Amino acid sequence: MDTTAVILGGGYAGVMAANRLAGQGHPVRLVTPDERFTQRIRLHEYAAGTRADPTVDYATLLNPDVQVFTDRAEAISPVARTVRLASGVLLDYGYLVYAVGSGESQVPRGALAPDRLSGAEEARERLRQLGPGERIAVVGGGLTAVEVAAETAAAFPENPLTLYTAGEPVPHFSTGARAGLLRSLRRAGVSVRTGAVDPERLPEAAVVLWCAGFGVPQLAARSGLPVDAAGRLAIDATLRVHRQDRIYGAGDAAVITDPGYGYLPMTCASAMPMGAEAAGNILRSAAGTPLARHNSGFLGQCVSLGRRDGAVQFLTAGYTARSFHLHGRSAAVLKEVICRMTLRWIRGEAEKSGAYTWPAGPTMTPQPRAQGVWS
Ligand SMILES: Cc1cc2nc3c(=O)[nH]c(=O)nc-3n(C[C@H](O)[C@H](O)[C@H](O)COP(=O)(O)OP(=O)(O)OC[C@H]3O[C@@H](n4cnc5c(N)ncnc54)[C@H](O)[C@@H]3O)c2cc1C
Repeated sequence: MDTTAVILGGGYAGVMAANRLAGQGHPVRLVTPDERFTQRIRLHEYAAGTRADPTVDYATLLNPDVQVFTDRAEAISPVARTVRLASGVLLDYGYLVYAVGSGESQVPRGALAPDRLSGAEEARERLRQLGPGERIAVVGGGLTAVEVAAETAAAFPENPLTLYTAGEPVPHFSTGARAGLLRSLRRAGVSVRTGAVDPERLPEAAVVLWCAGFGVPQLAARSGLPVDAAGRLAIDATLRVHRQDRIYGAGDAAVITDPGYGYLPMTCASAMPMGAEAAGNILRSAAGTPLARHNSGFLGQCVSLGRRDGAVQFLTAGYTARSFHLHGRSAAVLKEVICRMTLRWIRGEAEKSGAYTWPAGPTMTPQPRAQGVWS
């Protein structure tokens, strides 16, 4: 029986899964269209020009036994257990990990999308060309919008920046944490305007940065696999597709539809544990042992607000706000440490399969779906 694991997507979830498998001697092929790993959590810095390069050489992150295909998956056949790549290559799989991420939302004409490398590159170029006084608009009220707005405003003090948010920004933060975050935004020079933006009528600005939500690739839907309304691959608590014992999902492109998992947001902090857990369950399946139910949770959420300011909202395991929050320089430092740790965790897993561990999730009781996505 072919046990080769084919991993679709070389982001946080895919790379973590690949390393966990390869370190156990399991054959792994990683398919990614990108020449280098993109640190999406750094893209606001890259767009604003405060970071020269948000990418990292895959060779420094991956177990050397992972075979990398620089290609894009076009179609999955669960019956034939094959993946057709854009180059025409047909890959057989024994196990599949679907981890194609979320940098594909629709963006209105005239706006730029800094949540993906190509959009951040474009934004960086356009921001650089701004003359003094030309206006910048950021649309969205989630954490990406807030980070993009603060980073850009601090880097372009001569250009008035307005954050347009449909409701309160970062609604899952406590009132106190949100108040501190709004103070930081004001200090960075961000004006906040509340009210939904019509995608057909963008705000008057020289540059409009669209950060109104993550969109996932439609590959699973196109391939006839079960998906939710957004096109995320529907998986069970063991991260496996219902009635497909060889296909697993991890990261932003997948959603656990079993009761109790609605708290898991689209974040890197969910993607890495899911990648590692999916790999662990493939190893269990290959060994004929029972699969584990996914169990991951949160301690806090760190937000950068320019290079010298930040906010940390401490969280319950189930992603609800605790009363404790941090602001200012210490929060910015903590955020920077966590960003660096993501690469360390990936490299640690490349050196020793099983090295990466994560906080436990909440006690499982069915809950309504959370609104909290990173975007
Ligand atoms: C500015 C910004 C800041 C953020 N900050 C934080 C933070 O501080 N903390 C946090 O937890 N989260 C943060 N996030 C969210 C985080 O980046 C995402 O949740 C995370 O990247 C999801 O990881 P992933 O592996 O699922 O997907 P991704 O990192 O998006 O990787 C997906 C990979 O799949 C590849 N792919 C796509 N289509 C195909 C295909 N057809 N075939 C093969 N490969 C394909 C992509 O090229 C990419 O390599 C931030 C996001 C942004 C934009």
